[in-house]
Amino acid sequence: MARYTEAVCRLCRRENQKLFLKGDRCYSAKCPVVKRGTTPGQHAKSRRKASEYGLQLREKQKAKRTYGMLEKQFHSYFTKATNMKGAAGENMLQLLERRLDNVVYRLGFGDSRAQARQIVNHGHITVNGKKVNIPSFIVKAGDVIAIAEGSTSIEKFKAMREGTAKTIPTWLELNSADLCGKVVELPKREDIDLNIEEHLIVELYSK
Ligand code: SF4
Repeated sequence: MARYTEAVCRLCRRENQKLFLKGDRCYSAKCPVVKRGTTPGQHAKSRRKASEYGLQLREKQKAKRTYGMLEKQFHSYFTKATNMKGAAGENMLQLLERRLDNVVYRLGFGDSRAQARQIVNHGHITVNGKKVNIPSFIVKAGDVIAIAEGSTSIEKFKAMREGTAKTIPTWLELNSADLCGKVVELPKREDIDLNIEEHLIVELYSK
């Protein structure tokens, strides 16, 4: 799958907020958003007040970059969301949260979504006992996501048996000792801790 490969911290600085793309570093004083705080680029400070379109575009870029996607794939979530019952923006965020790579990240098996995607790609994850190596796989309520039997001896996962300091969202349940988690219910908007105004994305794509 195509990926954005430039220095990811620039993406956070462009949005003037942390997008948590790099794992532990994001929570440390080394995070460039904390250290430098400004938008990258020579003329960053002189940029004019954003237009309505500019605001919508930034909101879309923020969401797209948070979930590590390129435009075409991200737009396909909007299309799916508009065909579902309810608010398109909320549906879109819910679909993105239900991606297997995101769930692996939320459960703490990966330090970032990018690392979680690699963990899935490398076949370290099972869903309901079957190996799934598709990061875009959409989980359902009741699904059990676990570290595959042959991968439980990997140092990173072994250390997780002792527990994790990570806060697990309420729609998921983690069993550290067994290296598995469960989708207790589908995430609602208030369960998704992202500073994103999804209605602006809907407005942008509805033009
Ligand atoms: Fe973003 Fe993390 Fe880099 Fe900070 S350390 S700028 S939060 S990716």
